[in-house]
Amino acid sequence: MTSARPAAAPLARYDQLFIDGAFVAPEDGSLVESIDPATGRPWAVVAFGGRRDVDKAVAAARAALAGPWGRMPGHERAALLRRFADLYKAQARELAILETRDSGRALRESLADVGGHSNAYHWWASLADKAAGRTIPFDDSVHAFTSRVPVGVVGAITPWNVPLMAACWKLGPALAAGCTVVLKPAEQTPVTSLELGRLFAAAGFPPGVVNIVPGTGKDGAGEYLVAHPDVDKIAFTGEGATAKTILRAGAETMKRFTFELGGKSPHILFADADLEQALNAATNSAWTLCGQSCALGSRVLVQRPVYDQVVAAFAARAGRVRVGPPLDEATHMGPQAHAEQLAKTLSYIETGTAEGAQLVTGGHRLAGPEHAGGYFVAPTVFAGVSNAMRIAREEIFGPVAALIPFDDEEEAIAIANDTAYGLTAGLWTSDVGRAHRVASRIRAGMVWVNTYRFIRWSTPYGGFKASGWGRENGIEALDSYLETRTTIVSTTGRFPDAYAN
Ligand code: NDP
Repeated sequence: MTSARPAAAPLARYDQLFIDGAFVAPEDGSLVESIDPATGRPWAVVAFGGRRDVDKAVAAARAALAGPWGRMPGHERAALLRRFADLYKAQARELAILETRDSGRALRESLADVGGHSNAYHWWASLADKAAGRTIPFDDSVHAFTSRVPVGVVGAITPWNVPLMAACWKLGPALAAGCTVVLKPAEQTPVTSLELGRLFAAAGFPPGVVNIVPGTGKDGAGEYLVAHPDVDKIAFTGEGATAKTILRAGAETMKRFTFELGGKSPHILFADADLEQALNAATNSAWTLCGQSCALGSRVLVQRPVYDQVVAAFAARAGRVRVGPPLDEATHMGPQAHAEQLAKTLSYIETGTAEGAQLVTGGHRLAGPEHAGGYFVAPTVFAGVSNAMRIAREEIFGPVAALIPFDDEEEAIAIANDTAYGLTAGLWTSDVGRAHRVASRIRAGMVWVNTYRFIRWSTPYGGFKASGWGRENGIEALDSYLETRTTIVSTTGRFPDAYAN
């Protein structure tokens, strides 16, 4: 720490959980300091829930299902969601600033992201009265039809990279479907999720429909939620290893699951692409969010005729990235969200060098006066990367681009699919036939052609292979918060006596 810095401001206090429509002190939880990743110093005190707090939140969510919310017509749920969306919009700048304080994400990114969430909540509102079943033709002795009913109580467990977005992607469809929710944000970034409690209360949601209980995952609120017999579904975003632990623990109570996990997405640049545009997308999608996004184009596959040109352009553009205080709107890239992630990124950079990849630029923690104490890393470019290297196979979650050369279409497809993951992929070409040929053979849940990271509330998002189960966004997401009930009504009321003779 430097003595030239101003004296620390008093810590902000987020020392209550949001349970059953009110902010309450933790019963058997604790108060924990939240660290500002731009300084490495605490900036807020946050309430973490214990087992009794989770029990209370789940009981409130269960009671809300049995109460007015459970009987509320879809159009009335829609009206509540719309009111919430409007309040969210009015509060978007403050929410974005808090998101930046807690996660370190550059404010210009937080503003763009959080500014769009109210559209998503409005879209979910528009679906709240449209979960229709269907009639099933059979014969005139029965009338058979299906109804869509809410799954029940949802445990929403979210990560630290995009807390408000991850919450939005779960709360929107869950509430549109008529579920109730206990939200557990990541222990490093709990503040903005707690803020949502105020907005849900102000919008007039009945108590218990949304409950917010920060806490630890392992040995804490996350684990309790997963094991809880009164939680019907876990909606999770985070690491694959955590998902497997959750799956095993949740199997005891036969929960439903959706998992949005990691990625190691291929971003393919063919030599016939509009390279200027492709570079805009490829550099930004390698470094955005300081590399902490599952959708990053972290493996940049470049056709050999333009490989050297692309490497040089990546290096030049890395030099233009302003890495610094995330609250400064001129800053492009903030710090890594926490100290463990910083250590993980630096360790992967060492691994890349040891594996024989060529470190073109970056590769170190930044230590200028504006970086003191913070978890800042320079945008990093590795060239000469083979797809067998660990930096091409494992999710780093840091601003590290791995540039892999290829010769032809077949090789590009083979490299793109040679990964445990299958979340997203991008490709740039001016040949429309090639665009379709390649896109149709990529094993990923979302493929972008001549664009990247175009993600909206209406476009289903989720992974093949180790990248997850199910989809968030799109009507597919609504489906995953609904059960199907089939009702068969006899038109005769007659039932033969099986034991008559
Ligand atoms: P985790 O999967 O550990 O955390 C995600 C969420 O799960 C957090 O709320 C966490 O709580 C909770 N959790 C952890 N363990 C359990 C458990 N046993 N039962 C219930 N909940 C649990 O991810 P990390 O934060 O550790 O990040 C590690 C790596 O995961 C990253 O480096 C990145 O590679 C990947 N990742 C991927 C994300 C994505 O968007 N797909 C997002 C975040 C991470 P707590 O905060 O207390 O740990």
